[in-house]
Amino acid sequence: MRARNSSERVNAADVVVVGGGASGLAAAIEAAAAGASVLVLEKNPVPGGSSRLSVGSINAAGSRLQQRAGIVDTPDEHFEDMDHFMGPFASQENRALRRLLVDNAADTLHWLMSLGLSFYGPTADPPHRHPRMHNVLPNSRAYPYYLSKAAKRRGARVVCGAEVLELLRADDGGVCGVAALVGGERVEIAARRGVILCAGDYSNGAALKARFRPELAAIQGVNPTATGDGHRLAEAIGARIVNGEVVYGPGLRFGAPPKPSLVQRLPPSWALGQLMAAALATLPPALFRPFVMSFMTASLGPEAALLKSGAVLVNRDGQRFVDEQQAPGLAIASQPGGQAWLVFDDALARRFSAPPHHVSTAPGVAFAYLPDYRRHRRDLYRTGATPAELAIAMGLPDGALARTLQECRWQSPLHALGPLEARIVITDGGLAVNTSHQVLREDDSVIPRLYAAGSVGQGGVLLAGNGHHICWAVTSGRRAGRFAAAAAAA
Ligand SMILES: Cc1cc2nc3c(=O)[nH]c(=O)nc-3n(C[C@H](O)[C@H](O)[C@H](O)COP(=O)(O)OP(=O)(O)OC[C@H]3O[C@@H](n4cnc5c(N)ncnc54)[C@H](O)[C@@H]3O)c2cc1C
Repeated sequence: MRARNSSERVNAADVVVVGGGASGLAAAIEAAAAGASVLVLEKNPVPGGSSRLSVGSINAAGSRLQQRAGIVDTPDEHFEDMDHFMGPFASQENRALRRLLVDNAADTLHWLMSLGLSFYGPTADPPHRHPRMHNVLPNSRAYPYYLSKAAKRRGARVVCGAEVLELLRADDGGVCGVAALVGGERVEIAARRGVILCAGDYSNGAALKARFRPELAAIQGVNPTATGDGHRLAEAIGARIVNGEVVYGPGLRFGAPPKPSLVQRLPPSWALGQLMAAALATLPPALFRPFVMSFMTASLGPEAALLKSGAVLVNRDGQRFVDEQQAPGLAIASQPGGQAWLVFDDALARRFSAPPHHVSTAPGVAFAYLPDYRRHRRDLYRTGATPAELAIAMGLPDGALARTLQECRWQSPLHALGPLEARIVITDGGLAVNTSHQVLREDDSVIPRLYAAGSVGQGGVLLAGNGHHICWAVTSGRRAGRFAAAAAAA
C-alpha cells in the first residue's frame, strides 16, 4: 500500500489505528509521541467522522477557562452531576470509565488547546451545577484539522480512502494486523504492537440497530458512514458489545440548507478561533446573533415545545399521521419520503418569536426563535393566509391541507416549518474494554494487542448529556495510543 502523497510502501507499523475521527487522531498523536511508528487508516476521503459533524462542545471540570471566570469546579462534582443524565440505563454503567473521563477532562481540553484548538466558555448547561461547557471555535472541523496536523507533525501517517475489512490474528489469538481495501485492492498490514479501533458508532449501522433496537433499524443516522465497523470487526474475533441498546433518537432534524451556513464554511484557523473567543467574551451578544443563528438554524431540529403547544405534523400528502403529544420520530420515519412539516397558526408563531418560547436550542450557546428561521432558513419556512395558500407554498397536493385543518380554529396567517426528518444521532454501545482500553472477550479475558477508543471503545460508560462524547473520544484515544505504543511487540 502506498501512503498518501508518498512513494513509500506502508505494510507494517507498530500501531495501526482504524478510523481518523477525534479518537483515532488523538491515539495516533500519543502513540507517535511515545516513539511508535503509526498508521491511521480512514475509510472516508477526509478524516473527521462524527467529530467533524458535531457541535463540538466539551464538558470539563477544573479547566483554565473556568478558573479565569472564577468558577471553582471539581471532577468529583462532574462525576455526581452525570448521574442526572443516566435515565433507565443507570445500573448498566461502567463507573470506572466515567471516573477516568471526568478526572482527565480538563487535561484533554488543555491538550486540545495546546494543539491549536480554541474554545469559548464555560457556559451553563443545567443540570450541571457549574458552567463547564466549552464550545469549539469556529466550528467542529477544527478537530480533524488540528489533530491531523499534529499527528503528521509527530510522524504518524494518515491514509484516507482505506477501509479496514478484517482484523488479522496471531497464533496466540491476539491481533497482529488488519486487512484493508485501499484503492480497490485488498492489502494486509502488520501491526507489531497493536491495533486501536477508533471506528466510531453505529448510528447508521442497520445490522447492529436491528439486533439491539429493532424498532430503530430503518432510521438513518445523522452520519451516514457511522456503520459500526469497529464493533463488527472485533465481534468477529470474540469481543463483546456492552449497552448496545443505548441509542439516542430518533431526533427531529430539519433538512440541510442548500448551502452550508457561514459558520460551517469558516476555515478552522487558530487566529479566527481566538478572535471569535475574544469577541464573544467582550462584545454585546446582539452583534453575534446573526452569526450564531446561521449555525443554529443549519444544524439543529425543533424542540418538542412547539408540538406540545398545539402545532400539528403533516406528511407530504398534507395529512396528519400521529398524536403530536407522543414522541413522533418513528412515525415520521415511516411517512412518504421519511418527511414531515410542522404547521401552526399565527398565535403560536407569535408566541415562539421571543423568549421563553424557542424553536430550537444549542444548550449553553443560544436559542433560535421563529424569526431566526424566517431570516436564515427561507427554504424551511412557509406561510399562507389560508390552508390552501399554505399548501401551495409548501408544494403539497391541492385540498389535502385544507381538509386536514378544517376543524382547527386557527388564526390567520398560517405557518409551516419543514421538511423534518427523523435521525439517530449517537449510539452508546461499545466494545467491553478494561481501564487500559484493551478489548475484552465474552469471558472478560483480554484480546492481545487489540485496543478500542472513542464510541467503539465506550466499554459501558454512558455519555448522555452534552459535551461528554468528544471528551471521551479524545481522552480514551490518547490513553489507548499510549498503552498501545508501550506494549511489547508481537
Ligand atoms: C450532529 C452531531 C452533533 C454532535 N455534537 C456533539 C457535541 O457537541 N459534543 C460531544 O461531545 N459530542 C457530540 N456528538 C457526538 C460526537 O461527535 C461523537 O460521539 C464523537 O465525535 C465520536 O468520535 P470517534 O472518534 O469515536 O468517532 P468518529 O469521529 O465518527 O470517527 C470514526 C472514524 O472512523 C472511520 N471508520 C469507520 N469505519 C472504518 C473502517 N472500516 N475503516 C477505516 N475507517 C473507518 C470513520 O469514517 C470516521 O472517520 C455529536 C454527534 C453528532 C452526529
